[in-house]
Amino acid sequence: MFDKVLIANRGEIALRILRACKELGIGTVAVHSTADADAMHVRLADESVCIGPPEASKSYLNIGSILSACEISGADAVHPGYGFLAENARFADILQAHNIRFIGPSGEHIRLMGDKIAAKQTADRLGLPVVPGSGDGVETVEDARRVAADIGYPVLIKATAGGGGRGMKVAQSADGLEEAYRTARAEARAAFGNDQVYLEKFLGKPRHIEIQVMGDGQGGGVHLFERDCSLQRRHQKVFEEALSPALNPQQREAIGERVAHAVRELGYSGAGTIEFLYEDGEFYFIEMNTRIQVEHPVTEAITGIDLINEQIRVASGARLSFDQSDIEITGHAIECRINAEHPETFIPSPGRIDPYHPPGGLGIRVDSGVYAGYSIPPYYDSLIGKLIVHARTRTECLMRLRRALSEYVIGGINTTIPLFQALLDEPDIANGNYDIHWLEHYFERRNA
Ligand code: ADP
Repeated sequence: MFDKVLIANRGEIALRILRACKELGIGTVAVHSTADADAMHVRLADESVCIGPPEASKSYLNIGSILSACEISGADAVHPGYGFLAENARFADILQAHNIRFIGPSGEHIRLMGDKIAAKQTADRLGLPVVPGSGDGVETVEDARRVAADIGYPVLIKATAGGGGRGMKVAQSADGLEEAYRTARAEARAAFGNDQVYLEKFLGKPRHIEIQVMGDGQGGGVHLFERDCSLQRRHQKVFEEALSPALNPQQREAIGERVAHAVRELGYSGAGTIEFLYEDGEFYFIEMNTRIQVEHPVTEAITGIDLINEQIRVASGARLSFDQSDIEITGHAIECRINAEHPETFIPSPGRIDPYHPPGGLGIRVDSGVYAGYSIPPYYDSLIGKLIVHARTRTECLMRLRRALSEYVIGGINTTIPLFQALLDEPDIANGNYDIHWLEHYFERRNA
């Protein structure tokens, strides 16, 4: 096992990783920008190193500074969390070259899944169902027209290097294709420095269902069932639940088995998520995330498995500590992403929090690094905490969520808590009857 893990992240996930390390008896090194010197995980870590100014490009994304921090502290492993360098294959390779363990999959697997076309081709080869599409990069408008006619409109034009829902454009018909194609390429160039795009059939009302996986690269590979992340705003997840209200046990088992088989075939090591769109009883692979995800706690709630603990163990060379047959589901879990944003306009709301009172009681988990008197810096994303609620049934879970939200006090700033309270009054949410466009339609109705 490692002696000392450096946590190359900030916010709630840095604290989450720190907690897992402490429970494993591993020393912790926090790194932080000058804007994060007061962060909770910095206070709780055994050691901390300032790695640069507030801008992420000069601190949390600065590989040189992070390597120096490893050198100074003598850390023997790095946990990247999510975002920042978590899916940067070069970072994983550089650490390996310096004999520091990257807590995540191999650089090779990160690279493979980071290229969306290669990822889709791999998924197809591993026997996973994929969205019908170009299969390859589409280099000209003429090619785009041909492929679109072949798969049928509407089509979605997506960036090969895509992420975070950017660089995606829908063409409803042949008329709009050229403009959508050119805009998608321009956006992809601006966002990712790579303007290659590919085409996919645009699914009208799918759900986003993703399967949590773990592998040990030594023949072990399991799935930990699904999360339903269909409630999204601008392709960003807002509310996640496990299990999905849309699947029956047979569908669940069938897709889970296929995914676990794919993970073993790939020789994948660490935690990952295989994301699908699900429509009319069919799954369509869209991508694989080669990291821990924001919404991992809903899976932890229903399985009782500490995914970060397992990531660390596997990275240190251990085999998976459980088999597929050891994984049992208990009850239902829901996560709400609490953002420092206005609940209607979504304008970010950095500033000083006071008072602060998180909810508690049976089945409540709050993953957050904030505290009374903490000032949210304006430089990073607006996620300030996650409320995860677990109960025996989905109905109980919704009732408990309502109760928890009513207790949650975050003064001094705007948060998305009122949005979740409003959503709980919607019959479609109560019934689990929503797809990936539901939330956008809800906002249109509300603003009409
Ligand atoms: P990113 O890496 O940018 O997050 P994804 O491929 O994971 O991109 O897609 C993000 C979201 O975009 C999905 O959750 C879904 O809401 C929507 N989406 C992606 N592909 C399709 C598709 N073929 N049809 C309809 N919606 C899609």
